[in-house]
Amino acid sequence: MDLKFTAEEAAFRDEVRAFLRREITPAVWEAHRDLAEQGMWTAEFTKAFRRKLGAAGYIGMGWPKEYGGGGRSRVYQAIFWDEMEYHRAPGLDRAITYIPNALMALGSEAQKAEFLPRIIRGELSWFVGYSEPEAGSDLANVKVRAVEDGDHFVVTGQKAFSSDAHMADYGWVLTRSDSASSKHRGLSMFIIDMKSPGITITKYPTLAGWTHHAVHFDQVRVPRSMLVGEVHQGWKTVMGAIDFERAALSSPGLVSYQFDRLLAWCTKEREGGRLIDDPLVQDELVRLAIEAEGAKVMSYWLACLHAKGLRPQHETSLALLVKRETARRLDVSGLELLGPFAPLRHGSPWAPLEGEVEVEYRDHLYFQFAAGGFDITRNVVATRGLGLPR
Ligand SMILES: Cc1cc2nc3c(=O)[nH]c(=O)nc-3n(C[C@H](O)[C@H](O)[C@H](O)COP(=O)(O)OP(=O)(O)OC[C@H]3O[C@@H](n4cnc5c(N)ncnc54)[C@H](O)[C@@H]3O)c2cc1C
Repeated sequence: MDLKFTAEEAAFRDEVRAFLRREITPAVWEAHRDLAEQGMWTAEFTKAFRRKLGAAGYIGMGWPKEYGGGGRSRVYQAIFWDEMEYHRAPGLDRAITYIPNALMALGSEAQKAEFLPRIIRGELSWFVGYSEPEAGSDLANVKVRAVEDGDHFVVTGQKAFSSDAHMADYGWVLTRSDSASSKHRGLSMFIIDMKSPGITITKYPTLAGWTHHAVHFDQVRVPRSMLVGEVHQGWKTVMGAIDFERAALSSPGLVSYQFDRLLAWCTKEREGGRLIDDPLVQDELVRLAIEAEGAKVMSYWLACLHAKGLRPQHETSLALLVKRETARRLDVSGLELLGPFAPLRHGSPWAPLEGEVEVEYRDHLYFQFAAGGFDITRNVVATRGLGLPR
């Protein structure tokens, strides 16, 4: 792994940065900020923005040419994700990060032909249906049923914590297709058209202010051609897909943004002197800088492994853990360094940094659970990475 970017990679970063600054001006941010939907952007704006990313050629620049991609290394993809996170741009979700990568690695040729061209143009939104009320960390415990019926499977049951289901065109859904066999053996993964009859979506509020969703399937007919991988072999498929998911979520742009914003706050001239002149503040910032840099190195390390054609597993958990724990430390240190007005919310004239740090603190609480809790992620590193006993 080379820790320096090539001249072309650096130029690409500048190009993406310029694109994002042109598109997401402070006025756009202010006008579209909407805490009622996922990620603070409205579904409508997110969808429109994703098409712009497609038109600019950013979604598939790291895909192989045979799938319509730019054929550049995965490092370019990682740079694009990094910049998107840093600029808090809409649309950097499963629709352009891990679903296409999982499809390329695990989908059938017909599925790739059907979905990849639409994904690369930024036309599709997805939801991922793994979790259920009784199966979060214990994924092999899923109960949503898929019953074979000729050329179709009939899907019934409920998924929980279904991020972005309200705007999804398709679901990537894990089901139990054989209740007689052992827990890990009787699972099957499907792509489900969200326009199919029998799907209803319910919504509920979150602590961070946006709404979350659950998806209910009532005898939904899914063509056999939408089975991903082999029937009853869904455990293998989901484990592969989750590795792509963790790699995508470990992108370091968020922590770089949090750190830079905090540093700027501490170097601001103010009555009583700059915060950064206090040795205790310096000490805290140095610690945070090291951790933020660590998150960045881990994420680009994964990109290099992918660029070599490898399929990292426990490494993705390690990178995700480092990024998310660093983000949480930046949330907490941010609130402390912003001082007594820090908990004031966006909208209050006294809220420092427009309440951004406060809302992120609430928003990032879910880092401890989503896509595998911190404990689960540590278990993966311990067992798959270090070979420790269960
Ligand atoms: C904001 C948000 C978005 C999400 N989006 C999606 C989505 O789009 N699609 C989807 O399918 N799911 C989604 N999830 C669900 C997420 O994947 C689950 O919350 C997660 O897998 C944990 O499951 P649980 O909440 O049922 O917790 P539980 O499984 O009940 O776990 C509770 C606690 O116990 C710990 N724990 C459980 N088992 C073990 C063990 N064996 N060893 C050590 N510790 C253990 C966990 O780490 C956790 O801290 C989302 C969750 C959140 C909060």
